[in-house]
Order: sequence, then structure tokens, then C-alpha cells
Amino acid sequence: MDNDTSERLRRLRGAVPAKRHNARTVAALTGNPGCARRAVLDAAGVDKEQLARHVGFPAKFGQSQFAITRGNAFEAQVKANAFAELIRLLRETLELELNEVGQTDLEEVGGNTSQEMRHIRSRQKLTGAAADGESTFFDHPLLTLDVGGNTVYLEPDLVAFHHNGKFHVVEIKSFAVIDDQADGGKVAAAATQSAVYVLALRRLLGDDDAVSDEVVLVCPKDFSNQPVATKVDVRKQLIVLQHQLSRLSRIEKLVGELPPALTFDLAAGDDGKPTRSAAALTAALAEVEARYAPDCLAKCEMAFFCRKEASGCTATLGINVREELGGVETVAEALGLADGSLIASDSQAEAAAMLRTTAEIYGSVTA
Ligand code: SF4
Repeated sequence: MDNDTSERLRRLRGAVPAKRHNARTVAALTGNPGCARRAVLDAAGVDKEQLARHVGFPAKFGQSQFAITRGNAFEAQVKANAFAELIRLLRETLELELNEVGQTDLEEVGGNTSQEMRHIRSRQKLTGAAADGESTFFDHPLLTLDVGGNTVYLEPDLVAFHHNGKFHVVEIKSFAVIDDQADGGKVAAAATQSAVYVLALRRLLGDDDAVSDEVVLVCPKDFSNQPVATKVDVRKQLIVLQHQLSRLSRIEKLVGELPPALTFDLAAGDDGKPTRSAAALTAALAEVEARYAPDCLAKCEMAFFCRKEASGCTATLGINVREELGGVETVAEALGLADGSLIASDSQAEAAAMLRTTAEIYGSVTA
């Protein structure tokens, strides 16, 4: 990324620290690659959760403090006693002949926790592992991934390397596997996040074959805290992820098209609240085009704001409707085209014919 774009992103964020990306946000970003608003806010490191709250549309998803605490406790338990439990699980799951493994803690470098230092250290250790050939666990390595021309840092729970020359991403999640079944939505989300790590690791190593496309998901079993490990094939998620990342608009272009003075600065005053008014930030948001879809409700902190903004638009009815009704922006227009009270433009002709046919079918059925 050039210096101008970096400087511009800093100004868009304002005088507050950048919000860090993680695999969840990258996975969600690829779920709506056409949304310039999300791409700009994420690239600038704007705290979308705080921004949504300040403009009056707080997000209603995300992990509760209880879930975060439980997740951290479960991860600590799985990694306790020099990874003894995890070694047992990996021996069974990956059929490895692991008797003992080395461990490399990459959460800090001699007390330095900066992302740059941790990433340099992670790169050194991960690329050096193959040469040593020893089985090793890399605890919280810091990887990077280019997302729309913006480098984001990512931190898997663990990367395991073994002497057959393969790295395996290990994800530790605190949702339960009950009677060998886990919540499908949570497993799918974990698989997509793990695919983000697999891709980042492959790019770091410059060798796709060095990283297994089967990740290991570790979860509590039934209603206990007993960990159980399952292999999850993330090949499909990798294909989708690579395809979506390649389609993301270049951030330089998006930022270059914005008004030069635009900012989403959430710097707080003495009362701890952002000094800029909700109205000013709402106006700033209107400067960046959004692409709302119902999926946003589960994936983006700005969803309630964008849904309100898009009310009356065909986009709120879902991606399929939006694509079927290309060129027909609003529900009112669609109804007008369907009953013939509105004349279709050239770009709406195909959608209008379909709407009229549908209206006739419904009319004859309900008549
Ligand atoms: S909620 Fe808004 S900003 Fe977020 S992805 Fe959807 S349209 Fe874009």
C-alpha cells in the first residue's frame, strides 16, 4: 500500500488506535465483497461496533463477556501441562506418532508484543521448522494476509508442525459437541475462519502443499469440559475465500474516490464519549456506498444502520432478489413495473417482464 493511502486511512480513522482485524472479520468481509463501506471502515481500522452504537444502531451480535471468558478458560485448559491433552488428541486425530513436541510461544518477542516483531518472529520460526524437522507447536503465531491491498494481522490459536512436513492449523472453540454433533452454523463459521489461517500460512510459507487443508477443531465434549478433536476439511472454504479476496476492490481506488476531508474519528472527549456528533458521523457514512443484504445482520456491526438506510430497497430482500431485479432499486418501483403503472427503462426491461409475468401468475391464482 502506498504512503498516501496509509495516511488517508489514518485520517479516516482519526485520533484513535486502529481496530484489529481477525479471522472472523476477514471471513465476514468476504461474505459481502461488494460493500465499499465495510471495506473502507475495516481497512481504516475504524471500530464499527462503537460507530454503530454512536449513530444509534448498536450491533446485536458478538460474543458476550461470559462466552469470551469461557473460551479463554477452555483454551488454557487444552494447552495446560505443556500441551499434554492436545498431544493426545492430535495423536488420535491426525494419527501422528507424536510422543513429545517442542513448543514455541509467539505471543511476544522478549517482552515486545508489537505486531511487526511478532510477525517477523513467527515467519522466522515457521519457515525454519521444516528444516529442523522436529514436531513443534507454535502458540499464537502472528500471520498476515493481504485483504484488498491492506495487510491484516491474524492470530490462530495454534499451528502444529510434524515431522512428515505438514503444518496443521488447530482451532480451539468453546461451543459444545453433543452426541458427536455440533451446531452447524458454528462449525461452518469456525471452518471459514480456519481457512483464513490456512491461506495466510500458505502464503507465508510460499508452499500450498506445506499446510494441510484439514484443520483440527477442538471443542468441549457433551456437557463436560473434556476436549474432543475433529478434522474439518476446509478445501471448499479456501476456494470461496480466494475467489472472494481476489474480487475485493483495491482499497487505494476506494479511498481515492472519497471526499478528502472525510473522517470517522471516534476520539473521545472528557466524558468518554466521541466528540463528533452522531449526525456528523451519519453524514460521513452516507459518503461511502453500502451494499446491504440480510446476511449483514449476522456478520457486520453496521447492519442495523445499513438496513434502516436501505429500507424500501429491493436489496433488503436478499442477494437473489437483488440479482433477479437488476436495475430495479426500490420495492415501490418493482410494484409499479409489476402492475404496469410504471414504464420500464431499457436497463429494467428484463426484470420488468419477469415482474409482470409473476404478477399475472399470482393474479390468476388468487383471482
Ligand atoms: S452492514 Fe453495511 S457496512 Fe456492513 S457489510 Fe452490510 S452493507 Fe456493508
